[in-house]
Amino acid sequence: MTETSRLPLSSSIRGKLISAGYTSLSSISSVSSTDLARDVNITEAEAFDILKLVNQISGSNGSSSLINGAKNAWDMLHEEESLPRITTSCSDLDSILGGGISCRDVTEIGGVPGIGKTQIGIQLSVNVQIPRECGGLGGKAIYIDTEGSFMVERALQIAEACVEDMEEYTGYMHKHFKANQVQMKPNDILENIFYFRVCSYTEQIALVNHLDKFISENKDVKVVIVDSITFHFRQDFDDLAQRTRVLSEMALKFMKLAKKFSLAVVLLNQVTTKYTEGSFQLALALGDSWSHSCTNRVILYWNGDERYAYIDKSPSLPSASASYTITSRGLRN
Ligand code: ADP
Repeated sequence: MTETSRLPLSSSIRGKLISAGYTSLSSISSVSSTDLARDVNITEAEAFDILKLVNQISGSNGSSSLINGAKNAWDMLHEEESLPRITTSCSDLDSILGGGISCRDVTEIGGVPGIGKTQIGIQLSVNVQIPRECGGLGGKAIYIDTEGSFMVERALQIAEACVEDMEEYTGYMHKHFKANQVQMKPNDILENIFYFRVCSYTEQIALVNHLDKFISENKDVKVVIVDSITFHFRQDFDDLAQRTRVLSEMALKFMKLAKKFSLAVVLLNQVTTKYTEGSFQLALALGDSWSHSCTNRVILYWNGDERYAYIDKSPSLPSASASYTITSRGLRN
């Protein structure tokens, strides 16, 4: 029996895959959705769904454990609960996120200009470095800046506040529990943010293709921020069907990276206002074709003078809102 014949797909699709020579999970996951659709004579949307399924199964363990029956729902629950998370420095926001931004997932964060998307991106690039002794991941960050919005002075300011908080925490732990004191300087934090400025969608595609190699050589990377995913695609793309295909491929690659390296991918996105049923509503840029590409989606919005975050989509978290503020020290309650 082939791996493909055990996939939870319709028998006709399984038959088509096998006839076209796609008998193992690795043979499927190594091709693009365009090639798969052509070879198997299915729609691109069907090919995309198959790739997503295969990636979920293969990526869940680095092997096809689900196919082999090695993983059950109890394991999956345990895995979900024990997923490392990156704190946002806003405990109310962490709480609706189940503890913070989850590693091994792609999280999209959308909102209007000025709501704080870049601030969250910078905060996560700093917070991912909080050492394990302080309850963090001790990781590094990749920041992909498509809009030129990353400000190093702001990153330094947030890093300085983070170091102060850690010193206070470890000072307390040392005094009361003789725990080791953590030595970390704001400059070290800046050194651990790998910054890439991309100026066109072709550069963005090339960089995303290079990430697997880069992260293999820098295994401490635990968060990849893209600020923003949409900018060049909204500016430079006329062929919308092709844009959807390219972005779906990109989303799949991010999902693979998240699973393979157990890291968080955070895609910042712009929103537009859509007029439906007599009122204006916020809609994420790139429209519905993009909307299934991320595991979790958080929408940032204004309520009067207050900033709020809303869990718009998640397989495991309930829909909920939390307010947050942006201070000189970074994100806070
Ligand atoms: P977006 O990426 O969603 O367009 P930003 O992340 O750039 O928005 O957020 C910009 C907002 O962050 C500013 O309008 C301001 O309210 C807040 N902000 C930025 N820096 C500071 C700071 N040093 N102190 C307080 N608030 C700040």
